[in-house]
Amino acid sequence: MSQTVHNPEAMSDAELLAAAVSDVCAVCGRPKLTSRAFCNTDWAALPLHARWDLGRGLNSPGFVGIMRCWLRHLLVHKDRSRLFRSRAGELTFRTLDELLAAGYKFKDRVQCAAPSCLQPILLVRRPDRSLLALDEPQLQPHRFTCKDPEYLQRRRELKERVKTSARRRRAR
Ligand SMILES: [Zn+2]
Ligand SMILES: [Zn+2]
Repeated sequence: MSQTVHNPEAMSDAELLAAAVSDVCAVCGRPKLTSRAFCNTDWAALPLHARWDLGRGLNSPGFVGIMRCWLRHLLVHKDRSRLFRSRAGELTFRTLDELLAAGYKFKDRVQCAAPSCLQPILLVRRPDRSLLALDEPQLQPHRFTCKDPEYLQRRRELKERVKTSARRRRAR
């Protein structure tokens, strides 16, 4: 894990803004989505009103001060941000047969696509046809244990940005 040496008090406005849109979390140094100020784990550790304020975006009034305040908060309360972990989407199936009987369809056994993870995963289709990556034998969503759970969403964001800028070029 890369070492972060951020001191929010010593960071300039420009550095705080850059941290908010960076693909590295300023609290823990792990990869994060560029559309969020912090990685999912640290984001989930914030109180709701902080997420509201930060979600208003870089151009909202007082954003730099808000970013400095919550960065400091997360750095001071490190244990809390590590212990707090969203388990939304937890499954209760004990065997693959139970999962299949519930309408899930086996798709494949592959490696996680995140270069820093590469764990073996079980791919299934949910009853609504969407894909779900699971750990075996626990049969819980792989994102709970993935070394880089935001990897695929970052890739999607990047693709979306490339598409948007190509559209803009064409429109000119
Ligand atoms: Zn983080
Ligand atoms: Zn993974």
